[in-house]
Amino acid sequence: MNLKVIQANIQSILTELGEDPNREGLLETPERVAKSYEKLFGGYTQKPEDVITVFQNEGYDEMIIAKDIDFYSTCEHHMLPFFGKAYVGYIPNDKIIGLSKLPRLVEIFSRRLQNQERLTKQIADTLTEQLNPKGVGVVLKAEHFCMKARGVEKQNCEISTSSFTGLFIKNLNTRTEFLRLIG
Ligand code: ZN
Repeated sequence: MNLKVIQANIQSILTELGEDPNREGLLETPERVAKSYEKLFGGYTQKPEDVITVFQNEGYDEMIIAKDIDFYSTCEHHMLPFFGKAYVGYIPNDKIIGLSKLPRLVEIFSRRLQNQERLTKQIADTLTEQLNPKGVGVVLKAEHFCMKARGVEKQNCEISTSSFTGLFIKNLNTRTEFLRLIG
C-alpha cells in the first residue's frame, strides 16, 4: 500500500467536495486517512495460516465457542464501515486452535473490503481447512453505515449472517445448542 498515492487521492476528493485542502483542519487529513487505511485494510497483507496456532486435541469432543468477538469491517459497495459481533464455534477432531487466534482470524478477514456474507463464510471455511473439525458454526451480527447514513428507513436494522458445516448442518441439536449458547 503506497500511502503517498492514497494521500494525493484523498486531497483530490477534498477539493472535489468543494473544500479547501489547505485550511488548517484539513492539512493533515489526507495523511491521517492514509494511515487509517493501513489499519482498516491491513488484512490484505496477512494470511490466516501465518497467525493460526494449531494444537493436538487431547480428547476434547464438545463444542468450543468464542462469543462476542468485536469486529470492524468496510463494505465493498460503499466503502463505509460495518461492524458488530462475531460468534465462532466448532467441534474438534484431532486438532484445536489457540483460543486467542479466533479473534485474530476474524480480524484478518474483516480488515479488507468485504460483504458480510463472504466474511462469514471465509471464517468458517478457513477453520474447516486448518482444523478439519467435525463442524463449524459462524454467526455475524452487524450494523451497516451504508444503511444507517444514506437515508434508508431501517436505521436500527441489524444484519445477521451465518455459515455452518459438518455436524452444524447434519445435526439439528448441535446447531440449536450453538445458537442457544451464543444467545
Ligand atoms: Zn454498503
